[in-house]
Amino acid sequence: MNCLFCISRGEKQAERMKDLTVAEVIKRLEEANVEKGTTVVYSGGEPTIYEDIIYLIRYASEKGADVRLLSNCIKFADFNFALEAVEAGMTGVATNFYGQNKETYEYLTQSKGTWGKLIKAMDNLFLLKNKYDYPLYIELKILVTKPIMIHIPKLVEFISDRFPKPDLLGIFGASVQGSLRDNKEEISCRISEAAPYVKQSIEIARNHGQNIRVFDIPHCVLEDPKYFRYFNSLHNYYINGQFTPEWNSKNKKFDVMNGPQCEQCRFYGRCSGVRKEYAREYGFDELKPII
Ligand code: SF4
Repeated sequence: MNCLFCISRGEKQAERMKDLTVAEVIKRLEEANVEKGTTVVYSGGEPTIYEDIIYLIRYASEKGADVRLLSNCIKFADFNFALEAVEAGMTGVATNFYGQNKETYEYLTQSKGTWGKLIKAMDNLFLLKNKYDYPLYIELKILVTKPIMIHIPKLVEFISDRFPKPDLLGIFGASVQGSLRDNKEEISCRISEAAPYVKQSIEIARNHGQNIRVFDIPHCVLEDPKYFRYFNSLHNYYINGQFTPEWNSKNKKFDVMNGPQCEQCRFYGRCSGVRKEYAREYGFDELKPII
């Protein structure tokens, strides 16, 4: 796809996102001591169009790891490919519903015919999980962008009706980098503008019994304490770390940070704040310490 918000595109990203060779991937897996109890996540770009992805899934799986893909999932519209991936040992996918309908999804991804494939792919993956009992962790994500912001509650309703029980339904604040930075005026929105719709969406998801979590839109932006427990600090999501400025400076790859005023907040040290690239564009004025 050719998404208008892709963080893997743009000049700065091009070098960082160059494809690794199979040998380089295996070297990294070896260096990371991949074994039973670890999780390997293949990302991209788009990992399913990497020629040797099935081999790499099998390689990590045979080491005993859980193997997950961050993917647009379009290739899983082909049932045989989806079956091949779970047979090789894929145990999870995370995919994104970038729009609330065909028009918006295909406009934002700049790819005709992909909405139907996404729905078909989800049908295939849920079939493999629910009917054929493959141990597949399915995470559905919604990226908050300006064109879909007010439609997110409708999208949560749609997902809840069509795909009742993903393991996780996540709403993510967008990071302002790559193509999204180039298309900022059209695509980007402030998290405080999106917050009312995110809260409505939490209510809808809760009524459907969904396991919903919000990322990169912290407690202070959600404002009402009844929504606090739905904010997932990246602290919990990725690692057990402390999100202090010192921690952030040592762990730049996690791309999140707190503002200076966060030191006053009761959640300081437990809250991952906002994306660094978001803060670079919009600053920290939306963050109001909770005393
Ligand atoms: S630590 Fe900062 S970002 Fe997190 S809730 Fe408190 S003020 Fe908001």
